[in-house]
Amino acid sequence: MKKPFERVAVVGTGVLGTQIAMLSTHAGYKACVYDSREGSFDETYAKLYADLKAKGVIPFIAWDKWEECKKSIRFTTNLSDALKEVDLVVEAVTEDLEIKQKVFKLMGEHAPAKAIFATNSSSLPVSRMEESSGRPERCINIHFYAPFQGHNMADLMAGTKSLPEVMQKGEAWIRSLGFVPLLVQKEALGFCFNSVWRAIKKQTLHMWANGIVDFRDVDRAWSIFTGMQVGPFAMMDSVGLDTVCNIEMVYYNESKDPGDKPPDLLVEKVKKGELGVKSGKGFYTYPGPEFLDPGFLNPKKQGEAV
Ligand code: NAD
Repeated sequence: MKKPFERVAVVGTGVLGTQIAMLSTHAGYKACVYDSREGSFDETYAKLYADLKAKGVIPFIAWDKWEECKKSIRFTTNLSDALKEVDLVVEAVTEDLEIKQKVFKLMGEHAPAKAIFATNSSSLPVSRMEESSGRPERCINIHFYAPFQGHNMADLMAGTKSLPEVMQKGEAWIRSLGFVPLLVQKEALGFCFNSVWRAIKKQTLHMWANGIVDFRDVDRAWSIFTGMQVGPFAMMDSVGLDTVCNIEMVYYNESKDPGDKPPDLLVEKVKKGELGVKSGKGFYTYPGPEFLDPGFLNPKKQGEAV
């Protein structure tokens, strides 16, 4: 697939930024990553690697290419160094509008005029941060879904002033990674498929928090129904419960509907540092989460002979 440009920088090397940088270098782009936290790229990479290995997932990038891809990515905590001569900057920092606006402002100050800015936000339209960049016509949303787990699709959505050529380059970049672009034709908080996934998260979180079901039974039901290994709660652990909570807050701040508020129990988990795979504990405990046990889908009753 023809590449629309050469250089990609990713700002934020957490769960998603790390995967986006790896996909870019795998597709032949020169990739550089920036994070304000020293060592974050190595740390996230190691956790992603261990988690996928434990799950036996066949990742989007073949295992024997991982080390090579990682080595070709340059990590820096100096933003202007990261953005030098770059064609596309993908912002993947914490899901918080104020932080993203500040980061877009800095990106606008340090990136060359030709650079396109894409936010990987899970819920925030780029229209909320485009003005901070000083180049709204070059800003778009490109939202990925757990790419390493084989979800090879990305939402593509324009801001209020995005140039057609910027959208075309965004689409060409997504395709060049081997991904399917999902074009969102009107601004929407949940883009294309994230609205569907968000409905599942909201429903299952409230069922758990209201004591209606054990979260494990929801995951069992999901796996039996869909044939997937990973249910909604295991998936939220992979995403990061802090990120899930922040996303739910975006919807709540928009609607002010109490039903959209993340459940208090989830907020408490985040406060306790139970963030999922990245902290070693979320709904499940890592490594070796219970849902990978052979008997998970049909557990024996207490006292029943094995
Ligand atoms: P994360 O918490 O794993 O990582 C966020 C990273 O941003 C951290 O490494 C942090 O040090 C860095 N950061 C925070 N503020 C910064 C700043 N001012 N300057 C530089 N770096 C900064 O989060 P994540 O899960 O990777 O999510 C990042 C973005 O991607 C969010 O907008 C989220 O909604 C979106 N997203 C996440 C997922 C997922 O599965 N986790 C999926 C799709 C989209």
